[in-house]
Amino acid sequence: MPKYDAIIIGAGILGLATAYHIKREKPNQKVLVIDKKPAAGQGNTAKSGGMFRSFFYSKTNFKLANSSIEFYKRLEESGVDLGMRWTGYLWLFQEDQYKRLEADLKEMERRGGEFKLIDRREIEEKLNINTKAGESEEAEIMNLKNIDVGLLVPKAGKIDVEKLVAYYEREFLRMGGEVIYGTEVDEIIVEPEIKLELPGEPYFWQEAKVSGVRMGSKIIRGKKIIVATGVWADQLLDGIGVDSYQKPKKRQIFVVKAEEEKLKRLLYAEGFNREGCIPFTILPYPRIYVKPSIEEEAFWIGYADDFNRPFQLEEEPQPEENYYRYGIYPVLSAYMPQFKDANPINAWAGQYAINTFDGQPVIFGERNLIVVGAASGSGIMKADAIGRIASALYFGREKAELYGGEEFKVEHLGIKNRYVEREEFVI
Ligand SMILES: Cc1cc2nc3c(=O)[nH]c(=O)nc-3n(C[C@H](O)[C@H](O)[C@H](O)COP(=O)(O)OP(=O)(O)OC[C@H]3O[C@@H](n4cnc5c(N)ncnc54)[C@H](O)[C@@H]3O)c2cc1C
Repeated sequence: MPKYDAIIIGAGILGLATAYHIKREKPNQKVLVIDKKPAAGQGNTAKSGGMFRSFFYSKTNFKLANSSIEFYKRLEESGVDLGMRWTGYLWLFQEDQYKRLEADLKEMERRGGEFKLIDRREIEEKLNINTKAGESEEAEIMNLKNIDVGLLVPKAGKIDVEKLVAYYEREFLRMGGEVIYGTEVDEIIVEPEIKLELPGEPYFWQEAKVSGVRMGSKIIRGKKIIVATGVWADQLLDGIGVDSYQKPKKRQIFVVKAEEEKLKRLLYAEGFNREGCIPFTILPYPRIYVKPSIEEEAFWIGYADDFNRPFQLEEEPQPEENYYRYGIYPVLSAYMPQFKDANPINAWAGQYAINTFDGQPVIFGERNLIVVGAASGSGIMKADAIGRIASALYFGREKAELYGGEEFKVEHLGIKNRYVEREEFVI
């Protein structure tokens, strides 16, 4: 008899949210979570910017993010501190960029998506940034644009990822879930339903199933094995001929302290939100983002480069000094001269697990195996919904109930009958 009903490999945010929802639905399930890192949430979850927004054109994106954010919000309201800060998102646009989005924005507004437009004068007054960067000397070389309009989305902000991880882990353990940390799964075990003791079985004519995991010389058996190993998924799945539909790509974050008065004024810009700080701000082009961190009196700065950035798995990706110095800095300081001469005091790198086809998570199962992943850079803001959908698949249900009551067809995030709406609000 297998020792566990479910063995979940990966204690990142997706593995933990899945583990939590399985136990929440049926506390008598014996569930084990295994991770090679010494504690929960130490993979790419720990590298995250922790930003969230409930503002997408794609109904798939919207449902996954909005229901998760509502769940986190409800937890906070009931006294669980998740460090949520409703900073809002502020996209800055040149007029022609905005015009291209106008029709989609109208549709999003019709569906209840809340936003406010801010004109150039107000942006200048409140942020004191260079709205004429597109006319500067460097503009032509760096493709900079002017800033004519800002799009402020209030239902957005940041969450303390460590606290979110701790919540799912704590509740999972409280319900009797088990964990093994600091131990790597080397292999997923595949065995025939009926053992004939043939050398090298199972053969293709035998009914075969995934039956456990091997860690060194130790084998643990489970009725279902859930792979939630993010960018490392292929290391386990390639060996059994299953595709993970996700590819790793490096992403970097640089932290600049608001030491000088001009940076402090930018950080504590008034009039955008109740937090009394600059929103999470995205420059017109290149789309560098600037995240406020009041707790550290600092900014987190990043850019998601695509072409010419290899898909390459790295165990410990490192931030690149030159990426900031020659990539981010000249653009950032052209738009926000407050950053002139300011250097990062800290930086790190992680990896997105990208679904290169449609950018949406992938949740599918075959032969007692479930794969949950490809969160593509938005796994924190969608984790709760992904956990619920994975749990529904585990229990063999067709539909998952997302927080708030909306139903989601499980197969829509699968492979065979996948149905996801593409994102039109691509910015
Ligand atoms: C720089 C950066 C910024 C980001 N910013 C945001 C953001 O602002 N908002 C947002 O929503 N998302 C953001 N993301 C994305 C988000 O962090 C991910 O989508 C999410 O953390 C993925 O979670 P996961 O559980 O799939 O993967 P992971 O957190 O990587 O978890 C996988 C786990 O599996 C374990 N593992 C792997 N192989 C094995 C094995 N063989 N045996 C045992 N354990 C194993 C790993 O140790 C790891 O803990 C960002 C990501 C990066 C890199």
